[in-house]
Amino acid sequence: MVKQTDKKVIGASWPVVGHAAQIKQLRQAVKESAWAHAYIFAGSEGCGRYLVARQFAQALLCTRENEDIPCGRCATCLQMQRSGHPDCLTLSPQEESEVIKITQVREAIAFCATRPYGGSHKVVLVRDADALTPEAQNAFLKTLEEPPAYVVIVLIVTHPERLLETITSRCQLLQFHGISEADTCSYLDTHNISKPEQELLQLFYGGQIGRMMTAVSTAGAIANLGSFIEQQIRLLAASSAERLLWVQDQGKIDMPYMNTFLSLSEALWSLSVKIEALGRTMYTQPALAAFLETIRTMPLKERAAYSSRLADVRLRLKAGSNYQLHLENLVLHLS
Ligand SMILES: [Zn+2]
Repeated sequence: MVKQTDKKVIGASWPVVGHAAQIKQLRQAVKESAWAHAYIFAGSEGCGRYLVARQFAQALLCTRENEDIPCGRCATCLQMQRSGHPDCLTLSPQEESEVIKITQVREAIAFCATRPYGGSHKVVLVRDADALTPEAQNAFLKTLEEPPAYVVIVLIVTHPERLLETITSRCQLLQFHGISEADTCSYLDTHNISKPEQELLQLFYGGQIGRMMTAVSTAGAIANLGSFIEQQIRLLAASSAERLLWVQDQGKIDMPYMNTFLSLSEALWSLSVKIEALGRTMYTQPALAAFLETIRTMPLKERAAYSSRLADVRLRLKAGSNYQLHLENLVLHLS
């Protein structure tokens, strides 16, 4: 922990849904100028860790004193909100790559080695830090061990156990949990999302506020979730030949395609397995209601078998293989 001399006053809440305890802790750290040099923000994908990390970075970089932090009005805050600030560097796996490479880490090390451009801090946010290769983690180690006094590093991870012990032992761990349904509902209500649309978002992105926000702000995204369910209903009714034809028509079937297909399928079929136990069988979203009606007579054992097949394919995809073949196998095994 570092003690700095400058003090800032804590005011209104950060514009983040949920995570009150974590935000309180970070705000307190900024207030008392007693933040750690390195943090691990651990939690499930899309639960809001990056949003909190951005606010934390902005609070550290904000140039106004004795105000709510971040103030949201100073030049630094405005720059952070628009496009990012030269004193805040974000690392993430590059497109088409699932790992953060050592060259990216070297860029971060060079960034940390030079003094802040504007204020008195520099912040490095590493998204998907569990995608750092062991070599990249080792390269980062020295900077994590003895960072310059002005540097704060936040590693955002889903699987903290994938980080080397030498890395985790130098970071303060903040565990993030999924957002409650009540919190997400109030967020969606304020964005005028209808109840049937909320059912889709809760089903596919429950607890993952980041993903919900992306869907809310992307034209057609919520409608696409409904279309996905309609497509599953059509596939259930189709013959094997028609299903294979559908796969042929899918265009580019790659890792991102399969990840999306599997995530949506897993959520939908997981609901199909637990729907009776949930005791909540009333859904107003038309496609969702139709899907549940379609699978109502399907034996629970069959639904569960397809669910575990989906999980199994996800495991095998990690080893890298023929995506189209996996998709064909999946649709052929729909009951
Ligand atoms: Zn500011």
